[in-house]
Amino acid sequence: MAIGGGTGLTGIFGDPVAHSASPAMHNVAYAALGMDRAYLPFHVVPEQLPAALRAIRALGLRGVNITVPHKERTARLVKRQSAEARSLGAVNCVLVRGGDLFGDNTDARGLAADLAALDAPVGGRTAILIGAGGGAAAAILALKRLGARRIVLANRTRARAVKLATRFRKPKIEVRDLSGLLNPELIGEAGVVINATSVGLKSEPFLPLAYDAAPSDCFFYDLIYAAAPTAFLAPAIERRLRAADGAGMLLRQGALAFELFNGVKAPLDAMREALYARLGRRP
Ligand code: NAP
Repeated sequence: MAIGGGTGLTGIFGDPVAHSASPAMHNVAYAALGMDRAYLPFHVVPEQLPAALRAIRALGLRGVNITVPHKERTARLVKRQSAEARSLGAVNCVLVRGGDLFGDNTDARGLAADLAALDAPVGGRTAILIGAGGGAAAAILALKRLGARRIVLANRTRARAVKLATRFRKPKIEVRDLSGLLNPELIGEAGVVINATSVGLKSEPFLPLAYDAAPSDCFFYDLIYAAAPTAFLAPAIERRLRAADGAGMLLRQGALAFELFNGVKAPLDAMREALYARLGRRP
């Protein structure tokens, strides 16, 4: 790709940012569509976040993804935001609309699109969600959007789960301790079990869970993505239950951001290939 005087710029702000797969996904998409645009990683430390956000307008950037640890603070710094970003209290995309910085969040839509593409049984069923951070909040919106009948939220710190649950209505979110994951009756009615904790990131075993009680059509989904099956998914795969990690969510939130920034349909297959090459695995 040749960068010239007319190249439109997009990118990502994070700290750290070097590990991000987003530049690979977005730049491959520009190449696939023959667009004169580029996507750059910007290492933005917390002290510089307000200045970096102001630079979006000053430099004429067409859109910027926001990643760890800036998503929540960006929601407080942008002038306008989507209803979805407001209900998540976090922004993962910023663009200029009507002269103002506008924040949106594509995580929940990305996860909902991935669960739908995987044909995970969510509509009318019980969903069990483990974790109560930003990823879990996005998962609640996705599960509601897909019509889950019952959402059970289990987290190590109960107070954090209660606080998250009270932010959402219909269906009322039921809070359990992590010991609830060993309850065969609860796991036995799950259509989907989602891990939104960081357990497994450091190759530690997952939390005790009654995998053997899961119905045969139950889908196990891990927001963590990796080259090999994660600690949460491996026991499900051993039992021949359906399972997927969060690479699809990452891909689809990125494709939605691409569409917001560029106003054209994202080339999903090209982006998937770039992401999987980056993760060192086959599509
Ligand atoms: P977060 O806000 O830091 O929340 C972390 C969650 O993990 C909390 O619920 C925390 O419980 C729980 N946890 C951490 N260590 C634990 C342990 N030893 N035992 C039990 N629970 C533990 O993180 P987040 O932003 O929600 O992200 C969660 C995961 O989702 C991360 O791995 C992240 O990479 C992934 N994610 C993926 C995507 C994607 O596109 N695929 C998008 C967003 C997030 P406490 O409340 O008790 O601390």
